[in-house]
Amino acid sequence: TVPVYYDDDANSDVIADKTVAVLGYGSQGHAHAQNLDDSGIDVIVGLRQSSDSWTQAENDGLRVATPDDAAAEADIVSMLVPDTVQPAVFEAISDGLEEGDTLQFAHGFNIHYNQIQPPEGVDVTMIAPKTPGHLLRRNYVEDTGTPALLAVYQNTTGEAKEEALAYAQAIGCTRAGVVETTFREEVETDLFGEQAVLCGGITSLIKKGYETLVDAGYSPEMAYFECLNEMKLIVDLMYEGGMAEMWNSVSDTAEYGGLAVGPEIVDESVRENMDEALEAVQNGEFAREWIAENQAGRPSYTQLYRADRNHDIEEVGARLRALFSWAEEEAPEEAEAPAD
Ligand code: NDP
Ligand code: MG
Ligand code: MG
Repeated sequence: TVPVYYDDDANSDVIADKTVAVLGYGSQGHAHAQNLDDSGIDVIVGLRQSSDSWTQAENDGLRVATPDDAAAEADIVSMLVPDTVQPAVFEAISDGLEEGDTLQFAHGFNIHYNQIQPPEGVDVTMIAPKTPGHLLRRNYVEDTGTPALLAVYQNTTGEAKEEALAYAQAIGCTRAGVVETTFREEVETDLFGEQAVLCGGITSLIKKGYETLVDAGYSPEMAYFECLNEMKLIVDLMYEGGMAEMWNSVSDTAEYGGLAVGPEIVDESVRENMDEALEAVQNGEFAREWIAENQAGRPSYTQLYRADRNHDIEEVGARLRALFSWAEEEAPEEAEAPAD
C-alpha cells in the first residue's frame, strides 16, 4: 500500500520562515497563494506586468512581482502557470534559483519529459491537489481539506519531502490526505487516464453510441438521453458505492445485458489500443507530438477541437439542456413554496 500523510505527519516549522513565489494566478495559482497567505506564509505572486491576473492578485491583497523578481526573492518557487508555457517561464526565472531553493510543481509533465532541466543544488518536488483550484480554496476556507499527491524528484537539501509536506499542510491538503508517488507515475497515469478512459475514452464511447442510434433512425433526442445524459446517473452510483452499487440500482435486465454485452463492445481490441496509448505515453511519443503541436501553433488541435464542437450531439445537447435547466430551477422553488 502507498504511504498517505496527514496533518500529524507535517511539520509547519519547516516552511514557517520561508518565502513562496507562486508563479501564475489561475486555477491552481490563486488557491495556493491565498491558502499559503492565510496559513501565515510569506507569499509573492509572480506574473506578467499589467495583466488581468496582476490586478486580481493585488485586489486580493497579495504582493505581486514579475516571475523573475518573485523567484529571486523566494525560497520555494511554485510553478503554476500552464504546462505549455512553463519551459519559457523557467528560462526567465532560473537565475533566481539558488542552492537550497525548491522548485515545485502541481503536475510532472515538464520535468518527466525533460522540458525543464532544474539546476543541481535545488530541490524539485510536487504537490498536486486532486481538484480544480476553486475547490482547493473552498475546502481550505471550510476546513475540509483536499487530497493531493506528493513526489520528490530531486532532494539536495535532504529536506525536500518534509518541506513538500509542510507546503501541502499550508494549502490544506494534509487535512484530507497526501499520497506519495513519483513524477513518472503521476505523469504517465494522468496522461493515460485522461486519454483512454476519462476525457478521451468516455467522449468517444458516447459519440459512437449516439451515432449508432441516430444512423439506425432513432431520434437524436432519445440518443442523447440514452447515451450522454444518463451517464451522470451511472457514474454517480459508481462513485458512491463502486460498480456493485450501480449494478444493484439498475434493473436485472440492464444488469444482465450490461454484463453480457459490455465486454463485447469494449473488447480485447480496445485493450490493445489502450496498450498502444500507454506505450506512447511511456516512450515519450505523445509528449513529443504535443510539444511539436504547440511549437507549430496547434494546427491539429484546432481541427480536432472544431470537429468535436460541431458534432450533432452538441447541438442536440444544448437544446435539451436548456429545457432541463428550466425544469431544475423550477422544481426546488415549487417544493419550497408554502403549502397554503
Ligand atoms: P491556468 O491556465 O489557470 O494558469 C493561468 C495563469 O497563468 C494566469 O494567472 C496567467 O496570467 C498565468 N500565465 C500564463 N502565461 C504566463 C506567462 N507566460 N508568464 C506568467 N504568467 C503566465 O493554470 P492551471 O492552474 O490550470 O495549471 C497550473 C499547473 O497546475 C499546471 O501544471 C497544471 O497541470 C496543474 N494542475 C492543474 C489543475 C487544475 O485543476 N487546473 C489540477 C492539478 C494540477 P495572465 O493573466 O498573465 O494570462
Ligand atoms: Mg531564490
Ligand atoms: Mg490530467
